[in-house]
Amino acid sequence: IKASVMDGDQFEDGQPADLLESRAKSELEKLQEDRKTLPIYSYRDELLKAVDNHQVLVIVGETGSGKTTQIPQYLHEAGYTKRGKIGCTQPRRVAAMSVAARVSQEMGVKLGHEVGYSIRFEDCTSEKTVLKYMTDGMLLREFLGEPDLAGYSVVMVDEAHERTLSTDILFGLVKDIARFRPDLKLLISSATLDAEKFSDYFDSAPIFKIPGRRYPVEINYTKAPEADYLDAAIVTALQIHVTEAPGDILVFLTGQEEIETAEEILKHRTRGLGTKIAELIICPIYANLPTELQSKIFEPTPEGARKVVLATNIAETSLTIDGIKYVIDPGFCKMKSYNPRTGMESLLVAPISKASANQRAGRSGRTGPGKCYRLYTMFNYQTELEDNTVPEIQRTNLANVVLMLKSLGIHDLLHFDFMDPPPSEALLKALELLFALSALNKVGELTKVGRRMAEFPLDPMLSKMIVASDKYKCSDEIISIASMLSIGNSIFYRPKDKQVHADNARLNFHTGNVGDHIALLKVFNSWKETNFSTQWCYENYIQVRSMKRARDIRDQLEGLLERVEIEQVSNLDFEVIKKAITSGFFPHSARLQKSGAYRTVKHPQTVHIHPSSGLSQVLPRWVIYHELVLTTKEYMRQVTELKPEWLVEIAPHYYQLKDVEDSVSKKMPRGEGLAS
Ligand code: ADP
Ligand code: MG
Repeated sequence: IKASVMDGDQFEDGQPADLLESRAKSELEKLQEDRKTLPIYSYRDELLKAVDNHQVLVIVGETGSGKTTQIPQYLHEAGYTKRGKIGCTQPRRVAAMSVAARVSQEMGVKLGHEVGYSIRFEDCTSEKTVLKYMTDGMLLREFLGEPDLAGYSVVMVDEAHERTLSTDILFGLVKDIARFRPDLKLLISSATLDAEKFSDYFDSAPIFKIPGRRYPVEINYTKAPEADYLDAAIVTALQIHVTEAPGDILVFLTGQEEIETAEEILKHRTRGLGTKIAELIICPIYANLPTELQSKIFEPTPEGARKVVLATNIAETSLTIDGIKYVIDPGFCKMKSYNPRTGMESLLVAPISKASANQRAGRSGRTGPGKCYRLYTMFNYQTELEDNTVPEIQRTNLANVVLMLKSLGIHDLLHFDFMDPPPSEALLKALELLFALSALNKVGELTKVGRRMAEFPLDPMLSKMIVASDKYKCSDEIISIASMLSIGNSIFYRPKDKQVHADNARLNFHTGNVGDHIALLKVFNSWKETNFSTQWCYENYIQVRSMKRARDIRDQLEGLLERVEIEQVSNLDFEVIKKAITSGFFPHSARLQKSGAYRTVKHPQTVHIHPSSGLSQVLPRWVIYHELVLTTKEYMRQVTELKPEWLVEIAPHYYQLKDVEDSVSKKMPRGEGLAS
């Protein structure tokens, strides 16, 4: 195999086409050899036999053993794809993309042909695709179009231990279709050992264990709690780099912002280390990292250098990075939390579970003995960390899945076959919200509005805003706003040395205190006017990548508008646009208090306008917000001013006059605006 590379070199200026071909071939051969070194390889035949003999199989194997990349290939090689596609779900989109890319390389085919992936707003598959990697959420959506998944011969619900909301719902749905589709094979694969629970749920399905190779991992704790875990992580990484034997470092951080900060500081501090110290290659990886940069983490570290991977939870079990010898675990991750009483959802940084901590540590001992640095005390680990992470279904807003299940004709949600049922309060809250949004009628049946909403792969409030834009004749603007909101908060950037310029550029879009939603619309429209110019983005401190993504999402929303027969019309009257927004987001209203803080109207709670909002200094009396984020305080992000009378006008079934009384009574006679 090595010889063919040499051969290639000898023909350097000979026949370039042949050369390329022989290189590609030798790479393919090398990949085939690598496949055989994976722990799962020795179980290939046994595994195929087990799949043959059982309809449902639970598969357990250490991260990196080859479950995700190999099992679908084995089944393909064994002929399963003659009867239909093999679908493999991943809780994270980066994992779906990256694994599909890897498998297409191993099979020597172009990504999107035989091997493809499908994630929200991005379908990289074709007629030819037989191995389809996708997010669990996408497979869930496929049920809407094909309730028996007729196009599939095998469904592999991978990373089952993650217990995401979509995975949990998938469990119920695939279990159900397996009953009337005896030809469908169902694989439930997990990186942890609590497989009995999966087996019990799937009517005592057999468990197939793939013994992993695991080297000892030395665990180090801090003596005292760390006040600033980010700084502690950076210091630890540098210490390892300067004092420890070769081997790459993996640092677990909570999100993009933190990773970018760490990257900047690390770059700065390594510059000061002098030339005697080996090069430190910094590789970030998080959900929104552009595709072309994602593959960088897998590139082998050059001789003499060291790699430090700054990752979110994605590197815990979803992605395996070879060569990691040191893990730094600050002990936190970003976690959704939901209060079913108030219906408020928040994203917050929370301590991880013991199970997570052990997975993280394990990442250092894959190819040799490793070391894990926990930036918390042993006492903290033993007494304060929960054993397992609470499944997402028990700590999230369920409106989205309830709408989905209703669209699938599943009405009796209380008796749906949940592995762990959600709190019934949360189910009721979801039904209430969908009723308030007019997606369900009084007896809980899907309405025409609800059916239209379900077509959009968005949260119900966003879908409702779009559906409502039909009435307000501003669908063109509303889908721009919805796409920009879907990007999250990565539109503006703020380089440390140009903060004033960046802030001024941003404030330009807020002229007239139009609010954050309209500002987002202005950003999109201005960019469109420049014919989507990259230069314009630079000049305005706007991330061109985020904008391109927003444009892609918008294109798809355009298609969906057509599908639900909403005419695409433009209306730049801001008041009308704000009313359409209010039609979706009226449950998220808040009123200014004397103290300068806000109080949410329906379920009173103290909240603040996020400092990044254009209205954070303006403090309008009434606002509507897109989402809440809990950092040092409970912040509203993406805020727009609201006229309180809109609330009773748009949602008379939700708000009574008394909710908005003080200002309404002054401005208008009682009763006006109540017409529905
Ligand atoms: P598991 O699913 O059991 O955790 P995987 O199938 O994901 O294991 O990984 C098997 C091997 O494939 C690992 O050695 C991993 O490093 C490699 N691998 C997976 N994805 C990629 C990729 N995108 N690029 C390079 N190597 C990869
Ligand atoms: Mg995997």
